[in-house]
Amino acid sequence: MSQIITKGFLIARLDHNTFDEIITFINDYGNKFVCLAKGTRKISSKNARNLQIGNYCEFNFFLARDPNKISRLVKVNTIKQIHWPIYRTSFFLLNELVNKLIYPSIKNFNFYKNLLSIVTNPSFDDKKAQLIVLQKFCKLSGIELFVNKCVLCGSNKIKTMNFNLKGLICQNCFKQNNNEFYPLNFNKLVYFLFKEKYDLIDNFNNCFQPLIDQLIIHIKNSLGINVFYQKFFHFYNKK
Ligand SMILES: [Zn+2]
Repeated sequence: MSQIITKGFLIARLDHNTFDEIITFINDYGNKFVCLAKGTRKISSKNARNLQIGNYCEFNFFLARDPNKISRLVKVNTIKQIHWPIYRTSFFLLNELVNKLIYPSIKNFNFYKNLLSIVTNPSFDDKKAQLIVLQKFCKLSGIELFVNKCVLCGSNKIKTMNFNLKGLICQNCFKQNNNEFYPLNFNKLVYFLFKEKYDLIDNFNNCFQPLIDQLIIHIKNSLGINVFYQKFFHFYNKK
């Protein structure tokens, strides 16, 4: 094992045995590390107080070269602390999604870092934050929705959204693919969200939850990722 010091965000913690935890963090380069943190469930643990999900920390650990062995945390120091506790669905969602990204990329780190400010901001609408997290995740994963014009023929006369075709479609194309139909405000919300005109989506807040539900299905169908997966939430059941 070689000893490494790196900076990053703590994105998961899971109880392990009586006194230990398994922690996950993503560093500035978008590499994720999973480490055994010995004794962090003891009251006397110095590391425990630094281990809050969302904290930006310096991690000192022994990296396991053998994939069958686990890395071991030596020491962790908080550089930037988030205000805990946070009971916001958007915060859980962001952490769940960043944990599910597979390939290391600096874009993954930026995805987390850039969205952390809105998901932890109590005055920012929680559902609006969820929508932005889901849209940015779609973009990052290459499953963005096409909203410039009709996804099939290029017409500007948009009729409705079609998730199966991954974009908005026109009246003509709708006639041939009319298995999905959404209200006007829903379609407008999709348009402004994927155009990243976030200031303009507040008027459509009655469609926030229906679009959150649809984007979760879209992610499941496109990537095979279950979002709001029940088992994930025990990562957060901490004091
Ligand atoms: Zn068309």
